[in-house]
Formats: sequence, C-alpha cells, structure tokens
Amino acid sequence: MHIRENLDLLYRSIPAHVQLIVVSKTQNPETIQEVYSAGQRVFGENKVQELLAKAPSLPSDIRWQFIGHLQTNKVKLILPVVHMIHSIDSLRLLKEVEKEAKKIGRVIPCLLQMHIAAEETKFGLDFDEAIQLLDSPDYKAMTQVSLRGLMGMATYTNEENIIRKEFRELKESFTKIKAAYFASDDNFCELSMGMSGDYTLAIEEGSTMVRVGTAVFGERLKTQF
Ligand SMILES: *Cc1c(COP(=O)(O)O)cnc(C)c1O
Repeated sequence: MHIRENLDLLYRSIPAHVQLIVVSKTQNPETIQEVYSAGQRVFGENKVQELLAKAPSLPSDIRWQFIGHLQTNKVKLILPVVHMIHSIDSLRLLKEVEKEAKKIGRVIPCLLQMHIAAEETKFGLDFDEAIQLLDSPDYKAMTQVSLRGLMGMATYTNEENIIRKEFRELKESFTKIKAAYFASDDNFCELSMGMSGDYTLAIEEGSTMVRVGTAVFGERLKTQF
C-alpha cells in the first residue's frame, strides 16, 4: 500500500475549503494509525459495531463521522463517539438522536441524507420529505441536534453527466433549504458529496466534504477488519 503517497496526492488536489474525510471502514486500527500519523484527524465509518470496536484503541482527538445507514436502536451506542452523523434519513431517526443526545448532554451535528442516485437501493430523503421534516413541530422543538447541511451519494456509474447532474441537484436542494430555513444560521454550510471515483466532480459542483476510502487505502478487502 502507498498510503502516504495517496494522502499527499489528495491533500494537494483538494482545496482548503473542502474537508477530506478518510473513510476507514474495513481497515484495521494499525492502518488507520498510519493515516493519523500523517496528520489526518477526520475519519468516516459506516457500521456501528465496527466503529465501537475500533474507536477505543485509536487516539481520542479523531473526529469520527458516521456515514452509513443508522438504525434507531443503535443511535445511543454511537452518540458518545461521533462528531457528526451524515446519514439522517428520517424524522424518526432524528428524534432518536435528539432523545439520546439529551441524556448525555450533547448537541450532535447532523446532515440530512438526500436520495439523489438512480438506484433505489440507496437511502435518503427526497426534497419534499426533507421539507416535511424541517416543517414538523417535532424538528422545530429540537435542542440537541444541529443540522449542518446535506449529504448524498451519486449513482455508481462512469457517466460523468449523470454524476454531475445529481451533484448539481443536491447543491440546488441545499441552496433552497438554506434560503428557506437556515438563512441566518452560519452553521448550515456543509455539502457532503464525493467519493474516490467522483470527488473531483463533486468539488467542482460545490462539495465541502469529500468521503474518500479507496483512493487512500486501495481496493477494500472484506477480511481486513
Ligand atoms: C464506503 C463509502 C465511501 C467511500 O467510498 P470509496 O469509493 O472507497 O472512496 C463514501 N461514502 C460512503 C457513505 C461510503 O459508504
């Protein structure tokens, strides 16, 4: 593996206003430590049990980002560890975050995950569902959740036009939601889009957070962790 070289390349090609999240799913703590030693502090994980197993053996100043589908019954397990949840895809889930965050006295930064891909299998809200959530009295009463922006995953394809169109739609949703609900809230400023195959396009279309695994570690092997 050429982790150092890969990271250097990413650091040089990603502009300063964009946050690199190194997606460390399936990687063991020793490998993650290598990236940490290069100065990286922001890592993304997509499975609750895996995050809980790894986090205690790694430095406590890592800012863990939860990027995978989250079941409501697992929320309380990850809240003490995570710095941001990128994958809020229902009001029900957000209510659970609110409830459990209150118990531990934390305010949790969250992103709404939007469904932008052609694939039905991917999770996320459509625009109207996001509006419904934001208009709901339940959301308006929340004190322990801080919405910071939107997240989305483009269709898995080589066709640049399709990916670009989906990122552009996500950015448009962000702009509309920002204007209607967060015009005076500077914290609502994040657009989490772009992975190893499409982060350059995502940055061109306005991404502020890219989630990159393969371009750091190489192809993932299921057995690594
Ligand atoms: C795995 C994963 C990534 C990283 O994908 P790569 O193609 O390896 O960069 C980004 N976002 C989410 C939600 C993921 O599950």
